[in-house]
Amino acid sequence: MRIGVLGLQGAVSEHIEALQRAMRELNLEGEVFALKRREDLDGLSGLIIPGGESTTIFKLLSRNGLFETLRELILDGLPVMGTCAGLIMLAKEIEGGIEGQRSFQVLDIRVGRNAYGRQVDSFEACVKLSFDERPFKGVFIRAPRILGLWGEVKPIAFLGDEVVGVEAGKVLGLTFHPELTDDLTLHRYFLRRLI
Ligand code: GLN
Repeated sequence: MRIGVLGLQGAVSEHIEALQRAMRELNLEGEVFALKRREDLDGLSGLIIPGGESTTIFKLLSRNGLFETLRELILDGLPVMGTCAGLIMLAKEIEGGIEGQRSFQVLDIRVGRNAYGRQVDSFEACVKLSFDERPFKGVFIRAPRILGLWGEVKPIAFLGDEVVGVEAGKVLGLTFHPELTDDLTLHRYFLRRLI
C-alpha cells in the first residue's frame, strides 16, 4: 500500500503521522509519504489532500503539472480524502474563490470558502458521525461550509443540523481537520476503503 499526502502546502506531517498510526492499528503494511511530484504517483493506492489554502494548493498543482493527472486518477477511482482546503479542492462548485481558482470538481457539492466569518475564524465543536456512536472533536480553521450537495453524495458528519462531512464512492470530504486530534476514527474510515 502506498498512500500519498499531497505535500505542496498545509497540514501535511500531521496527516502522515495519523495515517501511520491508523495503519499500525489496522495491521496494514505500507508506506505513507508527502506527495510532491509526478514520479510519486506510481503505484499510488490512496491520497489525502490536507488543509491549508486552496488557492495556493491549486496554483502549486498547476505549476508542477500534477493537476490534470491527479484529477484523472481520482475520476478513475483513486480513494481520496480532502480536509478543509482539501475538501474545497474536491468540490464541484466554489463560492468565494479567487479569480481563476479551480478545483478537481469530483464531488457534487457547493462549498463556501471561509464561510464562518472572521470573528469565529477557528473553533472546536462536537461532530456527530453517521457510522460511529462516539462524538468526534472537530477542529474548524477558517473552514468552508457545505452549501449544497446532490447526486450520489451522502452526508457522513454533522455539526448540529449542518453537514460537515460527505462521501461519494471513494471520495471523502470534511470541512474540519481530523489530523489535529488524537482520534483516528476518520483516518481508519478512509483506510478501510483501500483494503
Ligand atoms: N480558508 C482556506 C481555503 O480557502 C481553508 C482553511 C483550511 O484548510 N484550514 O482554502
